[in-house]
Amino acid sequence: TQSRQPLVAGNWKMNGNLTLAESLADGIEQAELQVTEVVVCPPFPYLAALSKRTLTLGAQDVSACESGAYTGDVSAAMLNEMGCRYVIVGHSERRDGHQESNALVGEKAAQALSQGLTPIVCVGESEQTRQAGLVESHIAEQLKAIVDSIGGEAIAKIVIAYEPIWAIGTGQTATPEQAQAVHRFIRGYLAEVDPAAAAKIRILYGGSVKGSNAAELFAQPDVDGGLIGGASLKVDEFLTICQAAN
Ligand code: PEP
Repeated sequence: TQSRQPLVAGNWKMNGNLTLAESLADGIEQAELQVTEVVVCPPFPYLAALSKRTLTLGAQDVSACESGAYTGDVSAAMLNEMGCRYVIVGHSERRDGHQESNALVGEKAAQALSQGLTPIVCVGESEQTRQAGLVESHIAEQLKAIVDSIGGEAIAKIVIAYEPIWAIGTGQTATPEQAQAVHRFIRGYLAEVDPAAAAKIRILYGGSVKGSNAAELFAQPDVDGGLIGGASLKVDEFLTICQAAN
């Protein structure tokens, strides 16, 4: 909000098929959104098929390394070549399911930046961490690793997504107040490094955003849009969410 352009990114995860990818892309391209920037993050194999289109593409992950013997990994340069402008890094499904450390996530963000991609860096706490009252210290550790790796001067060039793990894919959305409290904390943390960059950086909320709750979340002063999982696979609902950020 304020002077920051709202951003809504759809994370399709490992869902659908080429037909669905094409039809979601058609629906999004036909929509007229004046203000909100919209990004879709399809699975890697579909990037090439969507790369000549007008919609803005992102990937769901990137290697921390430039090139070489890393079977199964995809480099930032390759994503760039396929027309990606964004890449999600440090999604909790990568941190937890693929043991990605804070340091690795920081390296991935730096690698993305070095190829001109904007990393959407995910942070967020588990239910257990929240119950223990450790949300802020947990997020601070995640942010520190990112800033250490990219350098304070690059803060304005990234996007942060606050995604409480207990809200992802559970239908248990954070309340607007819960989201705002953590978004304010994130901006405050970054302001200690670089106040001007902290005022510019876009901080997205993710975790069970739907057409019915997007507007109240996006109305919070430090919530600049959303990272959308399940609801990004239904074009009408996704566009309702994009509209709510407009
Ligand atoms: C996500 O995984 O980035 C996400 C926010 O998922 P969902 O919207 O399905 O909770």
